[in-house]
Amino acid sequence: MIGVIYDEAYLEHRPPRNHIENPIRVSTIIKEISKMGDITIEKPLSNVDEWLFKTHDRSYVLQIDNACNEGYVFLDADTYVSPGTCRAARLAVGAVLRGIDKVLSGEWDAAYAVVRPPGHHVGHTGRALMAPTQGFCIFNNVAVGAVYALERGISKIAILDIDVHHGNGTQEIFYGDPRVLYVSLHQDPLTIYPGTGFIDEVGEGEGEGFNVNVPLPPFTADDAYQETLNNVVWPIIDEFKPQLILVSLGFDAHELDSIANLRLSLNTYTEIFRRLKNIIGKVKGVVFVLEGGYNYDVLSKGSRLLIDIMSGREVEVDEPITQTDPRTLARVKSVIKDVVRIQSPYWHIT
Ligand SMILES: [Zn+2]
Repeated sequence: MIGVIYDEAYLEHRPPRNHIENPIRVSTIIKEISKMGDITIEKPLSNVDEWLFKTHDRSYVLQIDNACNEGYVFLDADTYVSPGTCRAARLAVGAVLRGIDKVLSGEWDAAYAVVRPPGHHVGHTGRALMAPTQGFCIFNNVAVGAVYALERGISKIAILDIDVHHGNGTQEIFYGDPRVLYVSLHQDPLTIYPGTGFIDEVGEGEGEGFNVNVPLPPFTADDAYQETLNNVVWPIIDEFKPQLILVSLGFDAHELDSIANLRLSLNTYTEIFRRLKNIIGKVKGVVFVLEGGYNYDVLSKGSRLLIDIMSGREVEVDEPITQTDPRTLARVKSVIKDVVRIQSPYWHIT
């Protein structure tokens, strides 16, 4: 079964003015999920500082705490802090930790942490790699989760990041760590924030070969995206044989999301959920963690599909499968070729 983790404290991370990353995103999802009847919604773990300090620099966490005390502050052009942010951000981390506890204990097969603020753009000290901003993120929820799972004795974790943006923070944190495989599909960094996530970023030192970036050209649609999943993403994850999978679940790769230019329908999300449902049994569990996604309808429909599929129910998607135009399709095929060439020293992919 899949359980949901949520806390109303997430609504208290409030933008000082109109902002696409706002409380309605998660309240819409919870409203939809609540209609589903037999779904379990649990509270997050509340005491997370030990794990927070193992993932982020102490100075960064203190900087955030100070910002919350000041009231409404913009950390950069994208990312705000409000008086309720520090509690919300800690409980966002706590939801991932609770989800990991639930799947490791065998109580749940899968967990869905319906959280905000999102996390995957934050590295050790906030802004990660060369990014201009923190992209709405405060603490890296998924990364703290991976650190927590490692300390609980899990030695192989795959992080699958399907947010439309590259998870530069997550990449930075685990770049030298062979225990955490980071696989990200995202829009070409030359065309979108954060400007990282190129194919040749493969990890370093002992972590070399455990970082996989699949940058996709704008207008990539369902057919081509699924080709990249089948040609590189699933084969690499299968070969890695993770004990736990964490998913950075962004719904902003959907065609109706206005923040980016990929053209996925919910059919691709459904395919990903089905595939992960079938992996359960080979892994101890799958923990889905909400990252981006700014179209309320897509967020609520996508979340319902996730829960239905992970609960073993048949679903129907009321959207047509999107087709990639020939020029873009040719570019995607060349991306797949390049990923295979760069990653083939590390993985049996052809
Ligand atoms: Zn995103």
